[in-house]
Amino acid sequence: MSPQEGRQSRAANGRPFVVAAPSGTGKTTVCRAALERDPRLRFSVSHTTRAPRPAERDGVDYHFVPASRFQELVQQDAFLEYAEYNGNLYGTSWASLEEPLAAGWDLLVEIEVKGARQFRERRRDACFVFLLPPSMDALRDRLRGRGSDDEETISKRLAIAEQELEAIAFFDYAVVNREVDQAVADLLGIVEAERAGRTAEARERHGRAQVFKHWRGAADD
Ligand code: 5GP
Repeated sequence: MSPQEGRQSRAANGRPFVVAAPSGTGKTTVCRAALERDPRLRFSVSHTTRAPRPAERDGVDYHFVPASRFQELVQQDAFLEYAEYNGNLYGTSWASLEEPLAAGWDLLVEIEVKGARQFRERRRDACFVFLLPPSMDALRDRLRGRGSDDEETISKRLAIAEQELEAIAFFDYAVVNREVDQAVADLLGIVEAERAGRTAEARERHGRAQVFKHWRGAADD
């Protein structure tokens, strides 16, 4: 049995809910609001080598570590998943996940798409939610609206987003972020249904295949 399998077989009370989305979809806003509304949900604090932004706190938003420390943790097999994103490393440690789960918290794990695929291989008990932008045009407008990227960078980000969309096949559910309040309600509806074992009902409403089909269909209209 590998160390991962041994760890996986440990009893855990809470459940991880993994949320991923193409960059610019508004994932952080949706996740923050969901955490405020659901007192049983906690945020999974990742490690990153990126520098903290002004309002961010170490140990709350991320564990901010130098690249050398991150590599040491990789060597120690401390991460369930990790990925490079925009020149920095990001990873979910087994410890940050298992301690709150063992204490009975459900965890919201906000990560990028590649990491979510690794997560799926290692934690079969997790629930995977893909957040979609209202449309690819809306995503382009949002990236332009940020004012931080030039047209070439925006085109690159959109190409990455198109690739990231393919990963939706590995997710259980999809939610379209047309309007933040509704997206939060949909996400929390999925969490509640999973807790209560009403998965058939949730899959009917938010199952990834039909949400995506609808989303693509709306874009083709
Ligand atoms: P930011 O630098 O904007 O906080 O995050 C950049 C991207 O990294 C976001 O898509 C965020 O969700 C993702 N991310 C944050 N923590 C992790 C993590 O532990 N693992 C992976 N794979 N991605 C992460």
